[in-house]
Amino acid sequence: MRIAVFDSGRIGIVEGVDVFDVCGGDPGPAGPLQSFLDSGRPFTTRGAAVPLSSVRLAAPLPRPPKIIGAPVNYAAHRTEMAAGQSIAELGLFLKASSSVIGPGQAVRLPYTDVRTDQEGELAVVIGRAAWHVPVERALEHVFGYTCALDITVRSTEDRSTRKSFDTFTPLGPWVVTADEVPDPGDLMLRCRVDGELRQEASTRDLLFGVPELIAYASSVCTLWPGDVILTGTPAGVGPINEARSIEVEIERIGRLEVSVDAGQAIPYADRPRAGVGA
Ligand code: MN
Repeated sequence: MRIAVFDSGRIGIVEGVDVFDVCGGDPGPAGPLQSFLDSGRPFTTRGAAVPLSSVRLAAPLPRPPKIIGAPVNYAAHRTEMAAGQSIAELGLFLKASSSVIGPGQAVRLPYTDVRTDQEGELAVVIGRAAWHVPVERALEHVFGYTCALDITVRSTEDRSTRKSFDTFTPLGPWVVTADEVPDPGDLMLRCRVDGELRQEASTRDLLFGVPELIAYASSVCTLWPGDVILTGTPAGVGPINEARSIEVEIERIGRLEVSVDAGQAIPYADRPRAGVGA
């Protein structure tokens, strides 16, 4: 199933050009899909179909309990970044849950004069709590998959700062349930900026694949339903400072497109407390 959140709080199943309204109501700030995942209940109703083109898709999980990132998880990206270490030495990082946006929304650049990059990534949505899960059983904890961008400022701060600006984690356009993705380690990912192909790679090339990421992450912290794991980006990252649109497309999952807005960017030297303690 392709499960979408649309029109401020409805859950729908997307089939072809239609979306079937299945439930909604007052889900709170974490959104209706989070409340569905927390409850563990199945979809029991299936309303009328409306054209997908007539609804406004929202982030499937606007406030995930955690967003876990995988640094330097493709060898070719390690080479382009001249990174001395990979995920094996770096471990994982966390992004603020407040950084999520949905399809069609805008990534807001914080700085006029610091490079900010796109990182197209496969995202995993956890469906069942996981703690110290072995690799062989890790995929049993996956609810589904979606497309993600891990937007990143290239400055000196810790990853959790550089990647946590509001709007820096676009997710969508929907979550494809795990039964439709038998092998998350065999998906083509493409990322375009203003229509220009920048990233094209297979998840075969992940250093830690999805089962290894879940096993490792769950050895550090309990994974909860709704947690999102960003699996890392392949080679081809680059600046979006002059860009207008970014799209990431993943085989079997879909295509997520967002715009870029530099309207509120400030000079890096004007950020709060710049230079204090230097
Ligand atoms: Mn990344």
